[in-house]
Amino acid sequence: MYYSNGNYEAFARPKKPEGVDNKSAYLVGSGLASLAAASFLIRDGQMKGENIHILEELELPGGSLDGILNPERGYIMRGGREMENHFECLWDLFRSVPSLEVEDASVLDEFYWLNKEDLNYSKCRVIEERGQRLSTDGKMTLTPKANKEIIKLCLMKENQLYDVKISDVFSEDFFNSNFWIYWKTMFAFEPWHSAMEMRRYLMRFIHHIGGLADFSALKFTKFNQYESLVMPLIEHLKAHNVTFEYGVTVNNIHVDCSSESKVAKAIDIMRKGKEETIQLTENDLVFVTNGSITESTTYGDNDTPAPPTKQPGGAWHLWENLSAQCEEFGVPSKFYKDLPDKSWFVSATATTNNKEVIDYIQKICKRDPLSGRTVTGGIVTVDDSKWQLSFTLNRQQQFKNQPKDQVSVWIYALYSDEPGERTNKTIVECTGKEICEEWLYHMGVPEERISDLAAECNTIPSYMPYITAYFMPRAKGDRPLVVPNGSKNIAFIGNFAETERDTVFTTEYSVRTAMEAVYKLLDIDRGVPEVFGSVYDIRILLHAISVLNDGKKLEELDMPFYEKIVEKRLIKKVKDTFIEELLEEAKLI
Ligand SMILES: Cc1cc2nc3c(=O)[nH]c(=O)nc-3n(C[C@H](O)[C@H](O)[C@H](O)COP(=O)(O)OP(=O)(O)OC[C@H]3O[C@@H](n4cnc5c(N)ncnc54)[C@H](O)[C@@H]3O)c2cc1C
Repeated sequence: MYYSNGNYEAFARPKKPEGVDNKSAYLVGSGLASLAAASFLIRDGQMKGENIHILEELELPGGSLDGILNPERGYIMRGGREMENHFECLWDLFRSVPSLEVEDASVLDEFYWLNKEDLNYSKCRVIEERGQRLSTDGKMTLTPKANKEIIKLCLMKENQLYDVKISDVFSEDFFNSNFWIYWKTMFAFEPWHSAMEMRRYLMRFIHHIGGLADFSALKFTKFNQYESLVMPLIEHLKAHNVTFEYGVTVNNIHVDCSSESKVAKAIDIMRKGKEETIQLTENDLVFVTNGSITESTTYGDNDTPAPPTKQPGGAWHLWENLSAQCEEFGVPSKFYKDLPDKSWFVSATATTNNKEVIDYIQKICKRDPLSGRTVTGGIVTVDDSKWQLSFTLNRQQQFKNQPKDQVSVWIYALYSDEPGERTNKTIVECTGKEICEEWLYHMGVPEERISDLAAECNTIPSYMPYITAYFMPRAKGDRPLVVPNGSKNIAFIGNFAETERDTVFTTEYSVRTAMEAVYKLLDIDRGVPEVFGSVYDIRILLHAISVLNDGKKLEELDMPFYEKIVEKRLIKKVKDTFIEELLEEAKLI
């Protein structure tokens, strides 16, 4: 497996790998990582679909990529996926998956056309004082000290950041900036999370720094991601005769393990309450999505909070059983045990057709929520909420068959142990209706109308005990390599497998690890697209300096005397050169 970039390899088709007709594949779980792996096995590995078996413990596919109408509760989205143009592996996948919405188009075509015609950007990113736009919204407000801390973090090597927390590398200057408000709420970073992962994010998405404050960096699907991404993938794989089995929990995979070689020998499963074993040969490839951030989710309703739980399920058990056999298989406990009580645990979906509520939303986002086009353009964050509440309305309706007068709002709170301003309760203690009341309060709904209007909404809370597990501080070896050293037939996929440079909590990471795993185990002779290399592009770096300093020119930057002298000399030296052109382009001089 090797990385490539550019069009030459992007458009090339690999030759059929040797011996693939004698091979089969077992995929643990039917999340995006598994569905992507199955698709790459078929398209690039040219494996027969009937040789591919997907084993899923739940009764439906998609894993964390959700969106459902629960007949008893109502519409539920545990999350909404922010996406971007440089999800290189993901778009490589979806260019080959037929759209269910547009005839003769791929999912990529559909997404591309939609986001061309209806650009995403926010007209109000942060509010305070019950519905007022933050006066400095749009500005980073980073002090020179905070900017230096960002640069210092980027210049460090990953091995200097093992088990280091974000709060270890930044001062109050940084935490008081708008940059941090945008950053933490957009990605769900909390101060106790991994500084190494934060550094990866800064480098990985440096090309989007200009679109951070208004979300012009982002793109979204038409519907929730179950309907827009999972359903087309399932149809595509079924058309290739891939077998899906639901209600099957993989308890263990027996692996002959040494430092030079790993061979999966058997899979222990629980099928409809009965223990069984699937024997394997080296021609049977096994792809394991280890760990899951939505495992053990519980749901409440308008009148009941979602019950808190710390009960790990099949994903964590299986990873523990694997890591007990081989130390190269990682340390799962670092991710799912001991998540601080303050962490994000709850999100909620509020659905309503109440005109008054819809008008309050419109007042904030300055767009018609029922137009079918971009509404909030990403989350709106309430700066003075102790919950650190954010909400978003993606294009409505978010569900294909939803009534045309309804909207579904996604609400989440970054901090779970703080009392709300309206409810005086933590979000974990709140029923759906109470979460809705807290949201309406911060939108500026008059206090006497809040209770009645919340009763006009149906709000379903979801409690996700491991939702921030991807971001927990880690060191080398805590996540297994996608294909462990010497592995003949076992690979790890998803956001708890280790690959270079890419960032977790993304759909791209699941697809990338799937692609790398398939390409390596089948020895497919085509490059896997590298993580977009914007961090190596001097134009992007200069532009980022300008944005992080709120558009100040180099000479306006607050620098010590000796640095000013160096800067003046530099500007003189580059006069009439290409570098001067680059600095001008970045508006730094
Ligand atoms: C609230 C939220 C917001 C998000 N926001 C974004 C975003 O803005 N942008 C973005 O790109 N991404 C976002 N993501 C992340 C993205 O959705 C996930 O990273 C991705 O969907 C994970 O897919 P996966 O296949 O790797 O893992 P999962 O979806 O966790 O799939 C694992 C599957 O395996 C099954 N399974 C586990 N163990 C077993 C077992 N032992 N036996 C059988 N089956 C098993 C599980 O039931 C599950 O179906 C978000 C996710 C959530 C939940």
